Amino acid sequence: MLARFLRPQSLSQKMMRVIFSIYLGVTCLITGTQFLTEYLKTQDSILNELEQLEETVRGPLATSLWQYNQNQLDALITGLLKMPIIVGVDVLDKHAKNMISRRSYASTSPPLSLFDTKTELYWTLNDKRIFLGSLTLYSSSEVVLDRVLFGFSLIAITAIIKLSILFWLFIWAFDRYLARPMKELMRQVNEVQLSQDANKRINLSNAENNEISQLQEHMNNMLSAMQNDRERLLEDEQAKRSWLENAVEKRTEALQTLNQQLKELATKDSLTGTLNRGSFFEMSQHLLLLSQRQKSSASFILMDLDHFKMINDTHGHFAGDNVLIHFTETIKDLLRKSDLIGRVGGEEFAIFLPDTEIDAAFQLANKIREVVDSTTLKIDDKEISYTVSLGVEVSKPNDQSVTELFKRADLKLYGAKDKGRNRAER
Ligand code: GH3
Ligand code: MG
Ligand code: MG
Repeated sequence: MLARFLRPQSLSQKMMRVIFSIYLGVTCLITGTQFLTEYLKTQDSILNELEQLEETVRGPLATSLWQYNQNQLDALITGLLKMPIIVGVDVLDKHAKNMISRRSYASTSPPLSLFDTKTELYWTLNDKRIFLGSLTLYSSSEVVLDRVLFGFSLIAITAIIKLSILFWLFIWAFDRYLARPMKELMRQVNEVQLSQDANKRINLSNAENNEISQLQEHMNNMLSAMQNDRERLLEDEQAKRSWLENAVEKRTEALQTLNQQLKELATKDSLTGTLNRGSFFEMSQHLLLLSQRQKSSASFILMDLDHFKMINDTHGHFAGDNVLIHFTETIKDLLRKSDLIGRVGGEEFAIFLPDTEIDAAFQLANKIREVVDSTTLKIDDKEISYTVSLGVEVSKPNDQSVTELFKRADLKLYGAKDKGRNRAER
């Protein structure tokens, strides 16, 4: 405890040291003043006693001097020196010459300080006062100290007791009201800092309404404010994240749609929505190889609208476009899901039929021809009718490319055109 007092580590210990040091200084000052007052008072009383003694011995001494009674004089001086308060006696004659000078201490160890009282000696003869000399009595600081020693000890002991009691009281009070609550506060602050629980707060037991409880309240308010901030930030972050996720989702959807559109643009004919030449041949090629591997037959129908140039010339290019759209829409319903239809030229279309023998293909070709022939298209109150010629071909086991099928179907188509159009040839 004393070591901690001398080398304080905490604020409370430092405060305790400062207050206690001030108290110690004040106590020393008061005690010193008490000592000095006591000393001066005792010195005064000794001087009084010396004067009374002088008063007492003045008569016998004057008698001895007047009668020149040296023995009586010596006895008187010896008697005086035996008194505890007298440490020296001087007797001077009327010419101020030293007659007797006696000391009770050795000349080698004189007292710290001397004080004295002096009185004049007279002899009265016929009412006449005759001056005989003077008597000086000396006392010393040691005599005073001897007298006040008991009083001094009492003052010193009282001061030490007061000082010790206050020292321990200071320590107890600082520990009870400052050091312990502060330690507890710091421990709980540490605990809150390490805790995972965001709702944890400082809770000092028996917190009285003082600066420490106010500090606890301020800290708890600060923790609540920090928690609110953290929650607000979290909410903000979540809102931003969901906004971002939403935006990314929308953008992904848009990209997927765009991709789909691009894919369709790349694979489909923009006018009729059927496969374009490139993708029709590519997909047909896959299906042909598949059917070859499965040892099954695939058929190919090549179709060319008859006298289409004339339709354009008669009804206009726009009407021609609509005929092309009408044609594909009309025949789509006659196809299976596994069949492929593509636009392979201006007004030329082809159908690839997997797993289909020539008879079934030829039947379908005739059905197409019939349906087209029997349908009319109405544009601007004008009825347009048109026909189609078809060449039908079936795959051979050694066909490696769909182009070979196409070429053979083309020859059949020529045949159909040759034979007057609006017909299917196999
Ligand atoms: P044939 O019966 O011998 O097949 O006679 P045709 O007139 O149909 O044959 P031809 O090859 O002489 O003419 C084809 C016409 O098709 C020429 C061209 O202007 C037209 N055509 C090609 N593509 C389009 C198109 O996308 N839209 C329109 N409106 N016409 C097209
Ligand atoms: Mg044609
Ligand atoms: Mg043509």
